[in-house]
Amino acid sequence: FTILGLESSCDDTAAAVVRQTDDEAAEILASVVHGQTELHSAFGGVVPEIAARAHAEKLDVCVMQALEKSGLSLSDVDAIAVTAGPGLIGGVMSGVMCAKGLSAATGKPLVGVNHLAGHALTPRLTDGVAFPYLMLLVSGGHCQYLVSHGPEEFTRLGGTIDDAPGEAFDKTARLLGLPQPGGPSVEAEAKNGDPKRFRFPRPLLDRPDCDLSFSGLKTALMRMRDQVAGEKGGLTRQDRADLCAGFQQAVVDTLAEKTRRALKLYLEHDPTQPTVAVAGGVAANTAIRTALQEVCAEAGAEFLAPPLALCTDNAAMIAYAGMERFKLGKTDGMDLTARPRWPLDQSAPAMLGSGK
Ligand code: ATP
Ligand code: FE
Repeated sequence: FTILGLESSCDDTAAAVVRQTDDEAAEILASVVHGQTELHSAFGGVVPEIAARAHAEKLDVCVMQALEKSGLSLSDVDAIAVTAGPGLIGGVMSGVMCAKGLSAATGKPLVGVNHLAGHALTPRLTDGVAFPYLMLLVSGGHCQYLVSHGPEEFTRLGGTIDDAPGEAFDKTARLLGLPQPGGPSVEAEAKNGDPKRFRFPRPLLDRPDCDLSFSGLKTALMRMRDQVAGEKGGLTRQDRADLCAGFQQAVVDTLAEKTRRALKLYLEHDPTQPTVAVAGGVAANTAIRTALQEVCAEAGAEFLAPPLALCTDNAAMIAYAGMERFKLGKTDGMDLTARPRWPLDQSAPAMLGSGK
């Protein structure tokens, strides 16, 4: 099979062509991503209306570029996969409308994909991992532990009860006057900082479950920043670096401990396949990756981190997830709806109401 995938649920417009190589593996023939960072940079966050407009303008360009790069034409494609949620509704709608147009014009089947399933299935695309495996999804909008049992079968072991870690990194950067996206700039500052100077909380570690919380870190950061700035009449470069290092260490420790628990829980049920994979933009963070790797090594589990370009939003993962649904014989009709919310551990066809 060859699948064209479209992604437009946040601030990246993307199209990709993915071809099946064998039962558990696939090859990316082309993957095009047009980011929107410059469009939103003046506003300190993604502006939904601007994002939707940019997606609508860029999607066809992305599709054309992806086809061109793959050396294929629309008629060579077996199905058109598109992110149908969750995400910013205007963007998701742009993608779904574009995919419906392509499907109607070519007669190729339409496959609605859950964006989170795209992230969760990425280790299969990159490493051909067999089911089941434990997945930590850490991004700007999400943070959860999922066991992937099948293309549409996920069990959620826990997740954030408030902010996602990426959001916390972005807010930290904003509070310290560092550039967006906050993850890379906070990580860079933290390299020169002392993680022990400021004592950040380790939220929810007193609870035995796999839930996380990150909003308290922002409040703590604000308090510490104001205290230091108040005493000295401003922040030095070193203060900023120390705050970043303290914040990042709190995120690292929390994620490491909760991953330890999730892994233990997972291994109690599936001891035969001790594999942990990460996805999401925050997985780019070296300190976080290293800590997770150590947790896995301790427990004798294999740790998989897809290449960065496939950790952040892209359409290759959507094409691949669409392929997995398509292989199960599942396609969608013209009544496919764009969903702002769509939890992964509920079955896709039932949620969409239009799956066959
Ligand atoms: P979602 O995919 O959940 O809808 P998103 O599109 O915002 O959300 P991604 O594109 O996967 O998420 O990742 C972007 C997030 O990753 C941003 O919040 C960014 O700050 C964070 N991030 C990127 N690099 C790093 C890093 N080195 N350290 C920490 N966080 C990072
Ligand atoms: Fe994403």
